[in-house]
Amino acid sequence: MASIDLSARPADAGPEPAVRRNLAGMTRGELAALMAEAFRLDEKKARMRANQLWRWIYHYGATDFAAMTDIAKEMRLALAERFEIARPEVSERLVSVDGTRKYLIRLGPGIEVECVFIPDVGRAGALCVSSQVGCTLACTFCHTGTQKLVRNLTTAEIVGQVMAVKDDLEEWPSGGEDRRLSNIVFMGMGEPLYNLDNVASAIDVISDGDGISISRRRITVSTSGVVPEIPRLGEVTSSMLAISLHATNDPLRNELVPINKKYPIAELMDACRAYPGLGNARRITFEYVMLKDVNDSDAEARELVRLLKGVPAKINLIPFNPWPGAPYECSSWERIEAFADILSRAGYASPIRTPRGRDIFAACGQLKSESVKKRASEARKERMAAEGTQAS
Ligand code: SAH
Ligand code: SF4
Repeated sequence: MASIDLSARPADAGPEPAVRRNLAGMTRGELAALMAEAFRLDEKKARMRANQLWRWIYHYGATDFAAMTDIAKEMRLALAERFEIARPEVSERLVSVDGTRKYLIRLGPGIEVECVFIPDVGRAGALCVSSQVGCTLACTFCHTGTQKLVRNLTTAEIVGQVMAVKDDLEEWPSGGEDRRLSNIVFMGMGEPLYNLDNVASAIDVISDGDGISISRRRITVSTSGVVPEIPRLGEVTSSMLAISLHATNDPLRNELVPINKKYPIAELMDACRAYPGLGNARRITFEYVMLKDVNDSDAEARELVRLLKGVPAKINLIPFNPWPGAPYECSSWERIEAFADILSRAGYASPIRTPRGRDIFAACGQLKSESVKKRASEARKERMAAEGTQAS
């Protein structure tokens, strides 16, 4: 019998595709549509094929169609001809003395974002992902805010951050008992509620129980206060909500978080109270950056308690992380403790967030990519300058 050349393209395959499309990061719907189109399948068959691929891509972390043993060999070859399962390029990886890992991810020429894995946070460890390259908002204490928005990330680019980090942590297959990556926080670069469609699709992919399987209750989206999008976030994603509050009165919040001029504190708090599913087990996290002599008085701590009355809330006091040229200093440790004491007495447990990964510039608000990657010498200079700021 003549041997069949399995690498040959089927006669009905159509013109040779110029680029092999990347399946990693796609939603179930996108995968099914693509299968229907590429192999002229009816809806049911396309869905079945997509489900098969889904498990390989997101549960097993496969990057090679050859590994997909429950798919016929001819089909595996046909898939490999048209598609790939790739990861975004990690152009730099830094590991802090405290175990925090920072990844610089290159999405295209001159387009880079950062994500940060923080061990021993949440159930096991949290990954802080970016939702935009840069940010359109300009909170005065945030390094990302000094970088102009380059663009929104696609769903695949958001999911790609998680997959690249799971590779690095060797966390395939997904869902193991000893997993190190248990939580996702949208607290990297960008304002997630200005890119909610892609953030919501990415959450669908990441939380799917047949794949990466990180429960929606362990996914937190942080917003500076894009009030009109808060209800949709709750309805569409069922994720946990974090609010970057940082001030207890409008004049100061207008200055620190300028979006407050559009959506003042009272409106923000109304949206919080209406967030679906709130209760003791599902609280909103309020983030409050500690800025020396700006927002750190006892009176403001008491005001914070008053403001949050009736809202199931956790408070996260974030010691200000300095960056070169920042117009603020971090409150003293005594001040932060005094502020935290007032909150603790009002029933808020352990409200201080220990800064992580400062030595690799990975802490909150320090994330900023350059359109052109910084040379190592410049990065070193920045770090030295930051250490100087911290010491002062
Ligand atoms: N854009 C969203 C999510 C990203 S910022 C938001 O603003 O919520 C993640 C958190 O880090 C926010 O609470 C932000 O206010 C805080 N942050 C920004 N810069 C900081 C800095 N220099 N030091 C400490 N926290 C900072
Ligand atoms: Fe943007 Fe959030 Fe930074 Fe404000 S704190 S500039 S919203 S990333």
